[in-house]
Amino acid sequence: MSLPEIEDLLGRMIRIPSVNPRERAEPAETPLAEFVADWAEGNGMRASLSEVADGRRNVLVTLDGDGAETVLLETHLDTVETDGMTVDPYEPVVKDGLLYGRGSCDAKGPLAVFMTAMAALARGGPRPYTVVLAGVVDEEHVYRGVQAMRREFAERGVAPIGAVVGEPTSLRMVTAHKGCMRCRITARGPGGHSSEPWGKTNPITTAARIAAYLADEYAPALDALARPLVGPPSLAVTMVEGGSGPNVLAERATLTLDRRTVAGEDPHEVWRELRDRLLSRWPDGVEVADPHVVDYALETDPDSAFVRGFADVLRTAGHEPAPKGVGHGTDASKIAMDAVPSVVFGPGAIAQAHMPAEFVPLDELHAARDVVEALLRREGTR
Ligand SMILES: [Zn+2]
Repeated sequence: MSLPEIEDLLGRMIRIPSVNPRERAEPAETPLAEFVADWAEGNGMRASLSEVADGRRNVLVTLDGDGAETVLLETHLDTVETDGMTVDPYEPVVKDGLLYGRGSCDAKGPLAVFMTAMAALARGGPRPYTVVLAGVVDEEHVYRGVQAMRREFAERGVAPIGAVVGEPTSLRMVTAHKGCMRCRITARGPGGHSSEPWGKTNPITTAARIAAYLADEYAPALDALARPLVGPPSLAVTMVEGGSGPNVLAERATLTLDRRTVAGEDPHEVWRELRDRLLSRWPDGVEVADPHVVDYALETDPDSAFVRGFADVLRTAGHEPAPKGVGHGTDASKIAMDAVPSVVFGPGAIAQAHMPAEFVPLDELHAARDVVEALLRREGTR
């Protein structure tokens, strides 16, 4: 018995490793990008590859439609590492309706959904939009792939009327997620023998006071900024380092903090405001380093025509149409910065992403494909 097209395709893509190399210079996703391009061309579509960095390539697949408008389907080619996996990462196995393997859910499942939906359009039937599929690199690290895609769209004048970003959402339409700002705060002191602490600033005490201020005064005030689908921004001190020995006064103590942002907050501005506040309270011996992680929040207008059209497709197919918010970041917030209404959608649960036994339910895989095909065939999505 031959496998359904989408299961066969997903299995073949799981067999192509594409682990994000983080800071190493390796063309990790390129074999998968080349496979996607070949498959698309073999199914009546145009494909092109473009280098992002270190030989790592985004793939763009285009299927021309009858109208002038373009719909973007975007997802990522990279996966997280395979260490500690309890299933074979690269040999897909189906058991009890679940397809196992690294990337089955995050995000080769959504990629297979997009490719097979486009192939169905290429075979015939209504095709009101030009469809562009972008498979990008580096989503699991610092988002270089989607940023390169945005630059390429700007150069080529590609302006989609809406975007579906493929990630596991259990078939829910996600229109909002949080952003993030992480930075380190270092308190310094003169150090010395711990038996003679008098008159000396102890940076561990300073760091403790800063941590208490952040938890007791700064963080509670964030509740006022709550947004409907994702709730309030948050702040947590997540790491503390300092001290060199049990009988030595520390010369420095460093806190790492994780500040989650909501729509309307610029993470760089959040950092500046926090730095100014801390330095006005602790003007001596405290440094607030530039943020080492910055990401943007997503909040797509649920009343935009593209989102209402997507909700309509979900309702018609018998799925939950209400917009949903999630805590983790996606490429959608970067795409939305170019005024493209963007939703996140895909088969499988985010709880399965990055897991030792990652899987995607086959029924959701097929259902997601049907939803995306219906969206792409729907007149008046705009
Ligand atoms: Zn993902």
